[in-house]
Amino acid sequence: MTELLIKNGFVFDPSNGINGEKMDIAIKNGKIVESVNERKAKKIDATGLTVMPGGVDIHTHIAGAEVNTGRLMRPEDHVKDVVRKTAITRSGVGYSVPSTFVTGYRYSKMGYTTIMNPSMPPLEAKHTHEELNDTPLLDKASYPLLGDWWFVLEYLSKGNLAECAKYVAWMMGTSKGYAIKIVNPGGLESWGFGRNVHSIDDEVKNFCITPREIMCGLAKVNKMLNLPHSIHLHTNNLGLPGNYITTLETMKALESVATDDKPVAHITHLQFSSFAGEGWGSMHSAAEEISNYINSHSHITFDMGQVIFTDTTTMTADGPFEYTLYELSGHKWVNSDVETETSGGIIPFHYKRNNAVNTTQWSIGLELALMIKDPWKMFMTTDHPNGGPFSAYPKIIAWLTSKKARSATLKRCSKKGQKRSLLPTIDRELSLYELAIVTRAGQAKALGLASKGHLGVGADADIAIYNVNPEKIDIAKTYKKVRRAFGNAAYTIKDGKIAVKDGEVVQHVDGKTMWCDVQTAEPVKIDDEMKRKFKEYWTVEYDNYPVYDHYLKVPSPIIVKADV
Ligand SMILES: [Zn+2]
Repeated sequence: MTELLIKNGFVFDPSNGINGEKMDIAIKNGKIVESVNERKAKKIDATGLTVMPGGVDIHTHIAGAEVNTGRLMRPEDHVKDVVRKTAITRSGVGYSVPSTFVTGYRYSKMGYTTIMNPSMPPLEAKHTHEELNDTPLLDKASYPLLGDWWFVLEYLSKGNLAECAKYVAWMMGTSKGYAIKIVNPGGLESWGFGRNVHSIDDEVKNFCITPREIMCGLAKVNKMLNLPHSIHLHTNNLGLPGNYITTLETMKALESVATDDKPVAHITHLQFSSFAGEGWGSMHSAAEEISNYINSHSHITFDMGQVIFTDTTTMTADGPFEYTLYELSGHKWVNSDVETETSGGIIPFHYKRNNAVNTTQWSIGLELALMIKDPWKMFMTTDHPNGGPFSAYPKIIAWLTSKKARSATLKRCSKKGQKRSLLPTIDRELSLYELAIVTRAGQAKALGLASKGHLGVGADADIAIYNVNPEKIDIAKTYKKVRRAFGNAAYTIKDGKIAVKDGEVVQHVDGKTMWCDVQTAEPVKIDDEMKRKFKEYWTVEYDNYPVYDHYLKVPSPIIVKADV
């Protein structure tokens, strides 16, 4: 293995308290080390450049059944974005739902090295992992959808947390999953009967259980299993005016599970859950109410779900919400019920500047991000591709770091939306140090990824270098340059190898697939009763269900010792 030495860069490594100090970073065998032999090591001169840990994305739909269905239903998304092959890279297509190889290349060009695929129906896990295998330059993991899985509902409704925990542990290994994903708890099971739940205390038919009991039950199970991430939660009533009340009730309900300062829930794409107003005509921001709550509590982290003004493809397990979006837009749509596990829906959507609701959504994402005082609670995402494609991250970076960039966009938006926006009252501009938290260090910490999101000795040598000289430029004033720099990394280093140079992929590196191998005192017994359930409830036999290790191109299991 070659040794690598990154010399003299301005290093931003918030996990180790390093804020723009000029330092060298030494790499050996894909890991960061104390030092290397300077004469022998390959050197990168990072003088005048910004050095950060590789980017980490806590929530991005890049693989699996819903993504692939999105690709199939949108040929128009392919033709507007065609990527030619090079001597090193493969060809591909797709703007909002890019093909697998292009996905890896685009992330790597922005300095990202780790992503989390957040919405995996266990029944579709094999397909998901096959696509992740084909996505280069990134380490990745998936969250199985468990909030409406019949086994979970059955054991939680009986109050049998220990048994529920064992089945969740079994499912992590069986689907090769990383964290518990919950979407519109109770609503997806109800959707199988054309219904939904409308508050956290509605009863889910056939199971005598409420969304509150599902969320709190699984948050407790998550603790019993010692999973590295908290529960990953898409709230009830997402995307509907007035839903911030449900979001506040949800966060309050989860207080009962928090016993220390550690987060017990990550609320994903919070923008979509922070709407005030009685209907679409009066819809406005509840960012103030939501951020006041999060600022005074420590059990919640969240990601933005930032909206980009563009044509994109929405996709979520929240089938009833996607149906609502179909009723609003009249676009072509797909909707499905995934047997005993979850549901799903896909619909194209164009966020427009001249639309008051879309402008308000754009504003809410940024308001939340800027009103949260502690950047370790808040992470940058678009909920790709729901708020817009991940390739728009450099735009969000400009909006977060520059009031001038925000004003330039806002003044081109709907007049009604402008009047409702809280952004003109917010002066905060994130520093490069804070940016490193919200795009990598904080995300890795919330995910419990000990070897990622920092540049300390022993960390994975996943590193991004950007053409930004903090001594020479004021990032708030020169936001266009910052946008360009974060869209075209000077270098992206994956596992100690130079993957990107000057915004171009120069080397193929396979990423690893991480998953939690949860070890319980008594493993779940696959008895006749369970096999009978498979026969009765699923369309696949038990023997064909699990994702075996050999399905993963580069498996990277994380051993987790459970308390059950
Ligand atoms: Zn999502």
